[in-house]
Amino acid sequence: MNLGYREIRDRFYSLGNDFRNDVSTSRLSGRLPKNLWLELCKAGLFSDEDLTNNYERIHFVAPALEGLCHAIQDGGVAISIISQVGLSLPALKEHGTSDIHKECLDGLLSGSEIIAFAITEKQGGSDAYALQTTIYDDGGDYILRGHKWNITNIPEADWVIVVARHFNSNNPLIVLVNTAWSGVEVTSPHSPVGMRSSPIGSIKFSDVFIPKEAILGHPAQGKSIVRKAFLRERILTPFPIIGCMAGLCERAVLYSCQRRISGTPIRKHQYIQKRITDVKINLESTRVLAYDALTKYIDGAESSLNSSVAKLYAANAFLNASATVMKIFGSHGYQVDDEIGHMVMDAVGASIAGGTEEVHRKVIFQQLLADTMRQERKHKASLPPVTLDVPPCPVN
Ligand SMILES: Cc1cc2nc3c(=O)[nH]c(=O)nc-3n(C[C@H](O)[C@H](O)[C@H](O)COP(=O)(O)OP(=O)(O)OC[C@H]3O[C@@H](n4cnc5c(N)ncnc54)[C@H](O)[C@@H]3O)c2cc1C
Repeated sequence: MNLGYREIRDRFYSLGNDFRNDVSTSRLSGRLPKNLWLELCKAGLFSDEDLTNNYERIHFVAPALEGLCHAIQDGGVAISIISQVGLSLPALKEHGTSDIHKECLDGLLSGSEIIAFAITEKQGGSDAYALQTTIYDDGGDYILRGHKWNITNIPEADWVIVVARHFNSNNPLIVLVNTAWSGVEVTSPHSPVGMRSSPIGSIKFSDVFIPKEAILGHPAQGKSIVRKAFLRERILTPFPIIGCMAGLCERAVLYSCQRRISGTPIRKHQYIQKRITDVKINLESTRVLAYDALTKYIDGAESSLNSSVAKLYAANAFLNASATVMKIFGSHGYQVDDEIGHMVMDAVGASIAGGTEEVHRKVIFQQLLADTMRQERKHKASLPPVTLDVPPCPVN
């Protein structure tokens, strides 16, 4: 970790500290903390630059998320940010036409507009490409019909990137839709138990006219656009979790010194020390895995396995750490107005969003199998080739 990383992290920590109250209000309303969002834009967090092999950019976003979430002690805002800067903006920049850029990038980069990335459908879930949302040809343009479910940012989104099935081919098309277009209906916001500061909801498309410019990339690129977006998401997801866990760890140490039972500060009990050291071990091991995946990603090495390991581990570590800190606080932490309980629920959300643990284990195992077979083939040139059957890793 170089000095630049620390400086960026500390800068976003200070910025986040000023908005801690806004974020707790936002958890009650289920809406984005808009003032914080605008400040993050001013601080340069939202950019359309691709993160692939982009050392400077990713070394900005990762510590920014860590510092911010350390300060605000909340996992929700980060999932909205990652949807915007990880999943959506780079795809839009890389695959949108110059007219599309003119129409939407200014608003998105200035923070006045919000974007969502929608692949999940109610019946599909982990089988992300079991798509019913379908796009039909219409004399050179297209018509979109279908429904997306449980999508981050949708209740407040101006734009949404939709992954749809082409009626006549197996390749999904990636479509940019404005939520004000005729036939688009954003249903009422969902009411999740965690990630409360990140608005989430569903969207319906009833014969929406799609101009051909709104198709991102070539039809044959659909799956590769989605794969790259998911990888960016997985690489970034552990960093806000590291920030949340750093704050939890500090609070646990301080509380163990303040809280006295039978005249003794609870820090003196070895059982309490065990709990606090477990939180620290969760934090530091997540950090190592996250940096390792990030380094491989920046170097252009195969990082799918490592990013799945880091994402899966981070979500589990977050759940362990937040539940452990709640136990240290006892009833004092078991209150709705305390951030600890919200973070327990954010941690469960983090383990579902961006692909469940089971799905990531499949990705890890398949990659491991392929790597091992490749090694084996080097030794014994006669082994049969391996056919990979890796499920697409669902987003958010
Ligand atoms: C906070 C949050 C934000 C989200 N944001 C977005 C978003 O912005 N855009 C978007 O498109 N989606 C989003 N999602 C949806 C998310 O991608 C899906 O919830 C996720 O892919 C899992 O699908 P599911 O919830 O339907 O679970 P299901 O697929 O129904 O899975 C149920 C259980 O079965 C297990 N399972 C499923 N398949 C297998 C298998 N093959 N082997 C073993 N076990 C299996 C799962 O691991 C899980 O435990 C979000 C979800 C959450 C919680």
